[in-house]
Amino acid sequence: MQSPESSRSPTALIVDDDHVMRLLEQETLVQFKFDVHEAADGEEALRLLDQFVPDLVLLDVDMPGMDGFEVCRQIRKRWDMTDMPLIMVTGMDDLGSINEAYESGANDFISKPINWPILGHRARYVLRSAQAARELRELQEKQAAIVQAMPDMIFLLDWQGTYLDYKAGYGSTPYKGTDEFLNRKLSDVLPAEVADLLLQAIELALLRGHLQSVVYKLPMPDGIHHYEARVAPSGVDKVVVVVRDVTLEKLNEDKIRRLAYFDTLTGMPNRQSFLERLDGELLRARRERHQVALLFLDLDGFKRVNDTLGHAAGDFLLRAVADRLKEKLRGSDFVARPALDEISVHFARLGGDEFTVVLPDLDIDNGQVVTVIANRMQALLSRPFQINQQEVTITSSIGIARFPGDGDDAATLLKHADTAMYHAKAQGRDNWQLYDKTLTSDAIKRLALENDIRKGLERDEFRLFYQPQVLAADGTIVGVEALIRWQHPEHGLVSPGDFIPVAEESGLIVPMGKWVIQTACRQVMAWQQHGVVAPRVAVNVSARQVRASDFIGHVTAIIDETGIRAEQLELELTESILMDPDTRRIEGLSRLRAQGVHFSIDDFGTGYSSLSYVKRFPISMLKIDQSFVRGLPGNANDVGIITAIIAMAQSLDLEVIAEGVENRAQADHLREAKCGKLQGYLFSRPLPPDEAECLLRQGRIALPQQGLE
Ligand code: C2E
Ligand code: MG
Ligand code: MG
Repeated sequence: MQSPESSRSPTALIVDDDHVMRLLEQETLVQFKFDVHEAADGEEALRLLDQFVPDLVLLDVDMPGMDGFEVCRQIRKRWDMTDMPLIMVTGMDDLGSINEAYESGANDFISKPINWPILGHRARYVLRSAQAARELRELQEKQAAIVQAMPDMIFLLDWQGTYLDYKAGYGSTPYKGTDEFLNRKLSDVLPAEVADLLLQAIELALLRGHLQSVVYKLPMPDGIHHYEARVAPSGVDKVVVVVRDVTLEKLNEDKIRRLAYFDTLTGMPNRQSFLERLDGELLRARRERHQVALLFLDLDGFKRVNDTLGHAAGDFLLRAVADRLKEKLRGSDFVARPALDEISVHFARLGGDEFTVVLPDLDIDNGQVVTVIANRMQALLSRPFQINQQEVTITSSIGIARFPGDGDDAATLLKHADTAMYHAKAQGRDNWQLYDKTLTSDAIKRLALENDIRKGLERDEFRLFYQPQVLAADGTIVGVEALIRWQHPEHGLVSPGDFIPVAEESGLIVPMGKWVIQTACRQVMAWQQHGVVAPRVAVNVSARQVRASDFIGHVTAIIDETGIRAEQLELELTESILMDPDTRRIEGLSRLRAQGVHFSIDDFGTGYSSLSYVKRFPISMLKIDQSFVRGLPGNANDVGIITAIIAMAQSLDLEVIAEGVENRAQADHLREAKCGKLQGYLFSRPLPPDEAECLLRQGRIALPQQGLE
């Protein structure tokens, strides 16, 4: 149907058997700018309507043949004319024919005699209202289509929360059937807390005049569904509530959150979410004036499990630890006051074998809960774990930091709990410690290491490696230097540089050094028994060890006990010993020398060695420090120092060995400079006893190129 609003004139079809009436009607409508067509009876009218659709039909009721009512009915049967404006012209103004006019589908009627000026206005008016009705219908169709295409449910409610109307969106299912909620109140239909939430939103929407949004969940037949409702004011006392099922989005969001915030191995919150949550708890604690405790747990010797049983077993153990903590920490198989079931606890895994437990709601006066929990955690974890066929027992060390005393923010508390945990490790593991301001993390790490060394000595975790020393002239092996290694249960093979300083500071170097001399001597005897020509073994001794009162006695005892010949043992002293002219010590060392023990000065050239010092001691060899060897042969300074040391040694009748020889050029230079012995990676790295034994059997390390042949 064409729109009469457009620029063309509206068309009208006049149907009347009376020629004069048609003429008058036409005259009138033309004056009102209609473009007029005529038909003399019903049949002609229907024929004409096959050819075009007018904007208005003016239809006489009384016609020969098909009367106006019938024509009207026929017209209304056609799909494109269901709402074409149609005015009936009746000869009678009795109620019956007026009714019949409307029933047959007329929009309006006008009775004869016709009031001509009115007819034109009438026609215009009918046209306009038909147009408005058409627009309204189109709008409704459009809205219905939108509603159908959207997954939302649309509710109309009054200000008190009474459901007035409902439109179902695509695939949406309301919480209850329409007859169960239409004309009822929210609170009669929905769970109380959801109804309250929506009522508040309705109130706010009406009060402020703009959109409110709430989310809630409802139990549906296939499980819990999540919804987002947008509440828009509609007039002053009604709201339109558009509700969308956001269950899928929520599940995806949860999944993303889980990935970002949860540790995938144990399902516990990860470091990030732990820190955020702890910060949140601290805010609340500050407001509500209560304490928060952070317990930082680290498994003792976890690396050993990983190394010996494999990573899969390690992962299994971590999961089992997490499960035990989550499930049993508050279990009733422990008797404790106050009842732990009543306090909230947050767990997290920070990574590796580190777990945290946060107690966010501690009253000032139930501080002992922290220690109860710590004890309980340790008791829980100390029960054996079954991994595959294997029973694994593990202990844990726990550090505890508390808010407000030990820190204001999550990062500080974590740092301090970590420090306290180290302290617990230092105290021999399998215990818990409270953070104390006097603990600095360095001091604690040192303490932990010291404790570890002590344990390592008890558990026999130290090993000696041996590095050959050769004649510069032909590569004959003339000795080995014993170098200590620590086969650490968690850290693997540890170099002496990482623990000797702490062993020295703590005095542990004394028993350790004794063990080294003893082991080196026994090794020489063992090689000898294996038929290997036993070389001289050089053992490093630290200043503190030499100063220990019974040093000389110990060395003598070891020589006696192992049966080594004294001249097979060389003790490498540090330059600092020479600086300390204690005559009794010099006498002691001289006694050993008299028995045959050799003495050398290690790392010579790095300290304040002076000839006069060297002369006082029964030294037989200088070891040129590797830092000078490194610069050979290019660095003139190093070349100069080495030349001077060799000349000085010759003048004192001392042997010289250069250590840290890594390449051919260094070896060639040293040999030409008359350095008698060489030691370094060029010949061999320090080796475990069995590999060293193979080298010793060969007796010589010949280099492939000219020079050492
Ligand atoms: P050091 O006595 O001067 O030992 C030589 C160090 O240089 C050893 O390191 C050795 O592995 C390394 N080395 C040998 N050849 C080369 C080379 O060609 N290039 C380089 N870059 N390095 C080479 P290590 O075994 O790590 O020992 C370090 C230090 O620890 C030793 O220096 C010694 O002072 C001390 N130490 C080792 N074992 C003991 C011990 O049983 N008791 C005491 N008190 N100290 C020890
Ligand atoms: Mg040495
Ligand atoms: Mg050295």
